[in-house]
Amino acid sequence: MHRKILILAALILMSATVLVVWNHLRPPRPGAPVDRPPMPPAPSAPLLSVLAQPPDWSRLGRFHHALTRPEFETLLTSVFVTGGRWREFIEIHDDAVDVRHDADPAAGMTRIPFASDGRRAVPVRGWRRARELPPFPPGRPLDGLRIAIDPGHLGGPWAMLEERWLQVGDGAPVCEGDMTMAVARHLKPMLEALGASVFLVRDGSDPATRHRPESLLSLAEASAGAGTPDEVIRKTAERLFYRTAEIRARADLVNQHIRPDLVLALHFNAEAWGDASAPQLVDRTHFHVLVNGAYTDDEIAMADQRLAMLEKLMSGTHEEEALLATRIAEGFAAFTGLPPYQYDPALRNVLPVRDHPYVWARNLLANRLYDCPVLFMEPYVMNSTVDYPRMAAGDYEGLREFNGRPIPSILREYATALAKAMEAAYAGIREPGG
Ligand SMILES: [Zn+2]
Repeated sequence: MHRKILILAALILMSATVLVVWNHLRPPRPGAPVDRPPMPPAPSAPLLSVLAQPPDWSRLGRFHHALTRPEFETLLTSVFVTGGRWREFIEIHDDAVDVRHDADPAAGMTRIPFASDGRRAVPVRGWRRARELPPFPPGRPLDGLRIAIDPGHLGGPWAMLEERWLQVGDGAPVCEGDMTMAVARHLKPMLEALGASVFLVRDGSDPATRHRPESLLSLAEASAGAGTPDEVIRKTAERLFYRTAEIRARADLVNQHIRPDLVLALHFNAEAWGDASAPQLVDRTHFHVLVNGAYTDDEIAMADQRLAMLEKLMSGTHEEEALLATRIAEGFAAFTGLPPYQYDPALRNVLPVRDHPYVWARNLLANRLYDCPVLFMEPYVMNSTVDYPRMAAGDYEGLREFNGRPIPSILREYATALAKAMEAAYAGIREPGG
């Protein structure tokens, strides 16, 4: 989600290697992250994303009479889709919406009745909106809130493999996964002091997935065309490990065990840097927050993503994500002074949210798979002349001088800015108690 070129390359690779994979359906073992063994493609399976489960369309049953037709249509077309291909799969009538399970009509469909004047149901959700929480005690606006902090990437021994690592000259190497972990450790007690129960999705650089690149080689091979060089297959297996399998395992942890009201996914942004040991630097820095949305035509065509999008749309995560993201972005930007990042409006995989300069919608694996509202924080730029020296300096107490200005460690500044933004956001949304 950082380097445009990588994003485009990844998108091209994923659409070129769309895999049709049936997985074993096996019950999760309590207390353990769940992985599904990779299976070879089955000829008659619906179109699915890599390592996805076959969709359980009965999950849409809980949304009967949850939204009116105008509510559904507005959310779908202004937040969740960027093209027109959804019409092949989603048919909107006055009283219900029909969702096809596959492009082939014989595969069946699911009907979800709309809410009407006399009939509206509130869908059962595993998370609570800020407004649904009881009045908060003085000084504790996060009281009762369950927050999962997801420190992006792995870091440690995986930093070079996951390509979130760079080094300028003889400077210290900068690893995104280690920095997000350090921020998470500073942030957790700050949010707890404001009343929240806080869980870390990882604590260290151990993967949540039991897969390793070697265990995904056969899947990578099956997705590649004949004559694909071994090096390309190896890279694909690595990406399946640190991106796909790892995030799917984290989603199982979040949805089945942590069950939070909100996930804060911590990242550092970067721009295209070329060679990691001689990276190209840019002289700017910026910040934005991502929420779920902006599904492309190719993504809507995949059954698992179509189902996930409808669950997101109908469970009301967008309203909560947009409300929190705009307020938290404002608090974070005010504290750090970071200017907004502007996406290229021509991109088909991103949409502005409420015309807010700092908030954008994108369909990422983590913000799609985690059931509750998810905010992706994307502050600072790893290969920036402004931020890199601060990152290379690592963690420190107090202030140090950069360009004649005494400033705190970038890791502590990130955590403090986010805690203060969370405090102001929830204090503004919840009712204060006595
Ligand atoms: Zn990241």
